[in-house]
Amino acid sequence: MYGPNHHGWIEVVVGPMYSGKSEELIRRLKRAQIAKQKIQVFKPAIDNRYSVDEVVSYNGDKILGECISKAEEILELLKEDTEVVGIDEIQFLDDEVVHIARSLADRGLRVIVAGLDMDFRGEPFGPTPNILAIADFVDKLTAVCMKCGSPANRTQRLINGKPAKYNEPTILVGATESYEARCRLHHEVR
Ligand code: ADP
Ligand code: MG
Repeated sequence: MYGPNHHGWIEVVVGPMYSGKSEELIRRLKRAQIAKQKIQVFKPAIDNRYSVDEVVSYNGDKILGECISKAEEILELLKEDTEVVGIDEIQFLDDEVVHIARSLADRGLRVIVAGLDMDFRGEPFGPTPNILAIADFVDKLTAVCMKCGSPANRTQRLINGKPAKYNEPTILVGATESYEARCRLHHEVR
């Protein structure tokens, strides 16, 4: 479908948990499919919350995808006729994903990535800041703060119902862990 003068680009969708990143990624990919474009969707194997072979939104939307453990696998799995590449949970992939996204866009593909811009501490998360820097289009989504209803751009990590400490390990045996969308004022890190 693409002619010799066609160029690609990178779209990035970021925000806290529950801001609708996956929902938005799925919406864009489904629209491309309706327009008869060939799409491929990837997500890091670490995110198996709902399904191993689907990208899923909390609102129930889903689209078939492929699990990868390294960004490099995108190039190995890429089909010759793919025109649009979607990647969810970009923050869990290695830095190579930034170069891969750039080379796909240079080759004429539309690349749509979604992921967390900040971790539960409010710090830049993994490769996301670097892909934001080289993106052509950026959308920063907000959720609704669970404390006050303001636009929420942070993810609150709770351990047994209490705000997590800055250095709390990612995996805590025997603890109940949960996450909430929070605004700047109500985001707490002990
Ligand atoms: P993300 O990929 O950004 O984590 P999803 O696309 O999976 O987000 O989910 C977005 C959905 O999350 C919303 O459509 C809504 O149904 C649900 N949701 C749950 N809690 C909240 C909240 N506090 N603010 C906004 N949406 C929420
Ligand atoms: Mg998501």
